[in-house]
Amino acid sequence: MLLDNGRTQVLEDEVGRQALHCIRCSACLNVCPVYERAGGHAYGSVYPGPIGAILTPQLIGFESQHAQSLPFASSLCGACFDACPVKINIPEILVYLRGKVVEKKSKSFFNLEAAAMKSVAWVFMDKGRYEFAQKAARVGQMPLVRNSTISSLPGIMSGWTNSRNLPSVPAKSFRDLWRERQANPKQRQP
Ligand code: SF4
Repeated sequence: MLLDNGRTQVLEDEVGRQALHCIRCSACLNVCPVYERAGGHAYGSVYPGPIGAILTPQLIGFESQHAQSLPFASSLCGACFDACPVKINIPEILVYLRGKVVEKKSKSFFNLEAAAMKSVAWVFMDKGRYEFAQKAARVGQMPLVRNSTISSLPGIMSGWTNSRNLPSVPAKSFRDLWRERQANPKQRQP
């Protein structure tokens, strides 16, 4: 039996196998705007950055939510492809793996992420609903906010704060400030 941690499986994939050419130089990490903001721990694996986003899901499979999320941790700007000395087409593999994730999710009976996105879309489609959600979030976040920051979210939302802080919902939204400005035009003068 060959213990290869999934590499034979990666080699079988005609598109994804490019990832095995990686020499671990980290050039793609250094130019990646997502890695710059998210940091290495956010990728939750030995391989962070663009190469981690394409290699990890192929090695561990697409069963976990974590593996499914990694191909989407990219803006597809292509900086990683430009920087890679062995010319691994990372954006191409990212898009290819996204397709695999979408195909897998489309076959599952219940998709929590899709349900959450539909709920958010429903809220965003109506001004009243949106402003009510902002007010509710302001009240709901109170026990969690320290210095305008939330460092630990409960339950299924905890994944967001495992490796980064979340800015709190501000006391006044842009709409609130705009309404105040319209009601007091003199405040526009410096
Ligand atoms: S730039 Fe290419 S070779 Fe270097 S770590 Fe990234 S994918 Fe691997």
